[in-house]
Amino acid sequence: MTKENEKYLINGEKAKWEVVIGLEVHAQVTSNSKLFSGSSTKFGAEPNTQVSLVDSAFPGMLPVINEYCIQQAVKTGLGLNAKINSYSVFDRKNYFYADLPQGYQISQFEHPIVGEGEIEVLPIDADGNTLEPVTVGIERLHLEQDAGKSVHDLSPDETYVDLNRCGVALMEIVSKPDMRSPEEASAYVEKLRGIVRALGTCDGDMEKGNLRADVNVSICKPGAYEKFRETGDFGHLGTRCEIKNMNSFRFIQAAIEYEARRQIEIVEGGGSVDQETRLYDPDKGETRSMRSKEDAHDYRYFPDPDLLPLEIDEAFIEGIRVNLPELPDQKRARFESDYGLSRYDAGVLTADAENADFYETVAKGR
Ligand code: ADP
Ligand code: MG
Repeated sequence: MTKENEKYLINGEKAKWEVVIGLEVHAQVTSNSKLFSGSSTKFGAEPNTQVSLVDSAFPGMLPVINEYCIQQAVKTGLGLNAKINSYSVFDRKNYFYADLPQGYQISQFEHPIVGEGEIEVLPIDADGNTLEPVTVGIERLHLEQDAGKSVHDLSPDETYVDLNRCGVALMEIVSKPDMRSPEEASAYVEKLRGIVRALGTCDGDMEKGNLRADVNVSICKPGAYEKFRETGDFGHLGTRCEIKNMNSFRFIQAAIEYEARRQIEIVEGGGSVDQETRLYDPDKGETRSMRSKEDAHDYRYFPDPDLLPLEIDEAFIEGIRVNLPELPDQKRARFESDYGLSRYDAGVLTADAENADFYETVAKGR
């Protein structure tokens, strides 16, 4: 932050500008095999050794849905206090990329498997103080295929393609634009990570990219966000930029901080923000443009004719609900009452299941 920028105070008492944040989190489903094929999902195998004819999109190959991945998505939806949709549809999202042999990604568009939900997050400021809890709305969760990987650094003049990851199941969890500070955004991802790890539906390994976030940031004048909440009209909010593939809590915060200030400078300078996809450069501490943002219609979504709509009945959902493990919120409440801990301490200890188990083992052993 430059001194010059101080005058644009964001979210302060006399703020001239406020920041609005919505996140799309991609979480790799914990499953031995892929979403539509029997190939292994094991990490670290030799390139192109876990690729079936379906994954490499040979003509005439048909996808077959993996029921376990459906269970995992429903379980995650329940953990997000969300509505499970009894009817959902797989669509083709068309785009060309060297590591996408199908020429489209099977995803879900109009009818996702999970609808609206919400989670409570507890942001922590730079000095380690807990702030007021905030409720973040979940817009939807849908299932989709991951793409392969282009490897650019093995040869100076060739690009290699590894299709092992092609077809691995991802859950895309889309939040409402309910976060108002970098701290809230990173607390949200941390909470989400705690929930999927407790459920066993995603290992949350951010270094391997198994949980990564696209961070949408816009700025608006004080009062505009409240109008948006009242009316649901996105026109009250500023134009958003999307920062792709963030996999560190610290960088998420730094990127939002930078991006909000960049947008404020543009608008204060009389310009307007372009809707675009940007990348965060951790070395330079800045975001830079990657491409202008496609609109949904550019992808020519249509229902995948190889897959029937997915119908889930109450019994299937109930079977999963009764076996849900203890979730971070329940565990926190129990730690507060069982061990007489403060909300903050209980929250920190239960954010991660392993730490919580360790604490509990030690506390019980006394
Ligand atoms: P896309 O795939 O085109 O990015 P999605 O609907 O999957 O669209 O996700 C859009 C994300 O951007 C959501 O998390 C939403 O809350 C967020 N978002 C939408 N408008 C704004 C805005 N003006 N400011 C900040 N975030 C926004
Ligand atoms: Mg999206």
